[in-house]
Amino acid sequence: MKYLSTRGGAEPRSFSDILLEGLMPDGGLAVPETVPRFMKVKLDALRDLAYPQLAFEIIRLYVDDIPAQDLKALIEKTYTQDVFGTAEITPVTKLEPGFALLGCSNGPTLAFKDIAMQFLGHLFEYVLTKQGRSLNILGATSGDTGSSAEYAMKGRANIRVFMLSPHGRMSPFQQAQMYSLDDPNIFNIAIRGVFDDCQDIVKAVSNDARFKGEYRIGAVNSINWGRIVAQVVYYFKGYFALSSSNDEMIDVVVPSGNFGNIYAGYLAKRMGLPIRRLILATNENDVLHEFFETGCYRPRKSDETHATSSPSMDISKASNFERFIWHVCGGNEENGARKAGDRVASLWRELEHFGGFDLSEDAEWSEVRDSGFLSGASSHSARVYTIKSVFEKFGVVIDPHTADGVSVGRQLREDEVPMLCIETALPAKFEATVKEALGRAPTRPAGYEDIEQLPQSFTVLDADAGEVMDFIRDHVPQ
Ligand SMILES: *Cc1c(COP(=O)(O)O)cnc(C)c1O
Repeated sequence: MKYLSTRGGAEPRSFSDILLEGLMPDGGLAVPETVPRFMKVKLDALRDLAYPQLAFEIIRLYVDDIPAQDLKALIEKTYTQDVFGTAEITPVTKLEPGFALLGCSNGPTLAFKDIAMQFLGHLFEYVLTKQGRSLNILGATSGDTGSSAEYAMKGRANIRVFMLSPHGRMSPFQQAQMYSLDDPNIFNIAIRGVFDDCQDIVKAVSNDARFKGEYRIGAVNSINWGRIVAQVVYYFKGYFALSSSNDEMIDVVVPSGNFGNIYAGYLAKRMGLPIRRLILATNENDVLHEFFETGCYRPRKSDETHATSSPSMDISKASNFERFIWHVCGGNEENGARKAGDRVASLWRELEHFGGFDLSEDAEWSEVRDSGFLSGASSHSARVYTIKSVFEKFGVVIDPHTADGVSVGRQLREDEVPMLCIETALPAKFEATVKEALGRAPTRPAGYEDIEQLPQSFTVLDADAGEVMDFIRDHVPQ
């Protein structure tokens, strides 16, 4: 399996080559030259596999430069009951006939990002050890990515993590989770600013090729291909748990931000998984809902980005969306990669110059229409209402992000097709909104009761790339 760039201007690369990089050299994202497809017999054979075996059968198709037995061992080390609380890893909770939640948030930081990030921790360590290298991960987080990355990378000899977070702007639980990590290779940097400032600093540092090379700067952000492939797995797991044969169709609703989670679902569908509709749920930051409704993709400016009660979906642009557009432009068709690359490059130039693009008059729009995507947007009052009604009807407490999904899913649901909603976080992470809905805080999982009481360590810096570079220089041995 080779990986191409969405913008068509880079040499094909192998999995291990793209794993540790952010963008491709031409500024595009890595995409697989083909999306493998399971035949019916193979799909039947996957149905009863346990999570790690299923994960191996799927991930191996995208990773051909790590020996199979090594990859298998890495996957088996990752997906254990010990780390994810159950042997199923992503258990399905049926709320009512035809409607269920896929529990993806039982990893160490209580959000679905652990599913991919825990795998990445093992994978990075393996690849770096093989290459005799070390890596300094620089990231920006509004909450969930940072803690998930830190818990996955802590204690790994050849990896350091420098994580920027907006000072005083995360939920108290999220802050405690990150800042209480006591590990010599983890550096929490609280930036005087907002999440966008953090992200701008990461971009500035990564664009400094010399610094990036000298200090071996790497990324684990949502465009990381290793994360995407690991996320494909739970769509299969969820489908098999909800259906009784591979002749049935289901709809899946996904609370979305950077389009990473639902893009994995799109790959699963292209691989032959009988998903009828992929329903993309946004909160008030509805840039993706707008696209699927109108064909216009119009990323927002920072000051147009709302701070909502489902903060992990507060995005102004959706980084993985470029991959989807590449597929839609025929990137996987025979001899289609060049044309798709040129097309994506020109659309993204348009984006840069005019702040958006409009596909509704173009040939690609019918591809988008045929892709199975539907969308909807939620709001604070819809979240609060949904948390309350799901609890009253089913006795299950959901978090505000999952509530965005359930809220949108309920509107678009059709009786004859079962629906699965991806649960992206546990309610304990977002107490304030749950309290508003239920009049009481959600119960915390064991071990998290007094997390705010633990000592916290972090360094506060100005929103200035130079300061962050100095900090890295001071903490990376040469
Ligand atoms: C990251 C995150 C999302 C958004 O996922 P994307 O892959 O960026 O679309 C939704 N909910 C929660 C709780 C998250 O942490």
